[in-house]
Amino acid sequence: MKHSNKALVTGSTRGIGASIAKILAQNGYDVILHGRDEKKLIETKEKIGAIDYFCADLTCRGACEALATGVLDKYGSLDVLVNNAGAYVWANVEKTEDKDIEKLLKLNTEAPFRLIRAFVPSMKAQKFGRIVNIGSISGAVGEGNAALYSMTKSALSGLTKALALELACDGITVNTINPGWVDTELTETACNSGDGFSADENIDMIPQRRFIHPDEVGNLVKYLVSDEAKGLTGQNINLCAGLSVG
Ligand code: NAD
Repeated sequence: MKHSNKALVTGSTRGIGASIAKILAQNGYDVILHGRDEKKLIETKEKIGAIDYFCADLTCRGACEALATGVLDKYGSLDVLVNNAGAYVWANVEKTEDKDIEKLLKLNTEAPFRLIRAFVPSMKAQKFGRIVNIGSISGAVGEGNAALYSMTKSALSGLTKALALELACDGITVNTINPGWVDTELTETACNSGDGFSADENIDMIPQRRFIHPDEVGNLVKYLVSDEAKGLTGQNINLCAGLSVG
């Protein structure tokens, strides 16, 4: 049976993406990193034993297509695509700025679609592929004062279900993980911004009274891309310490 091998993780120099990349590398995958800061990419590559890295701002015109062409020209195919890069904005709807609408739609929604579109032909040709999107619990249940973010993440749910149907006979699975609050820079910035809730206030609202560790997301990705998970497709999985159930 074909075992997945080459894995691209977007936004993998820190936070959830770095954990996913580390755990996949520890489990025998040839990990290709992606980020915007070459120095951090080199450091992360050395630290986790990734095979390569690509630098790209995914909000720039043509960047997703150039990234995919770079990977495919060098490696011929890709087995695992993890769409992790993303950004969060806390703002009520009337104060949401144009620049943030443009950025979050491009980064959180359009980039995963464009990367999937670019990599699917080679996955179809080899009759194997694993696509994992990192959504958010905000997209699954809605987060007050984060309507833009919730909208861009909930779009991944429709994308996941539709693509799972479309690619079901091609050996390609498509799933989305919706994390609750995860202990990363994104969460630290959101909790310390002075707007919205502090870390302690957020923890009080989480049934397990804790943030998710980034490695918990990495370990779920590891399972979703394994041969054992071949029947798991089109699913939106809430990894949120109970946040989505009340
Ligand atoms: P983070 O801010 O620590 O990391 C985000 C990553 O995305 C970084 O590697 C960054 O370089 C990359 N990125 C940002 N803008 C980019 C751009 N324009 N082009 C290319 N790359 C870009 O955040 P994180 O907490 O590790 O979040 C990772 C993913 O998980 C995001 O999609 C986020 O929405 C999602 N998520 C996070 C949480 C959380 O609580 N931290 C919860 C739910 C979902």
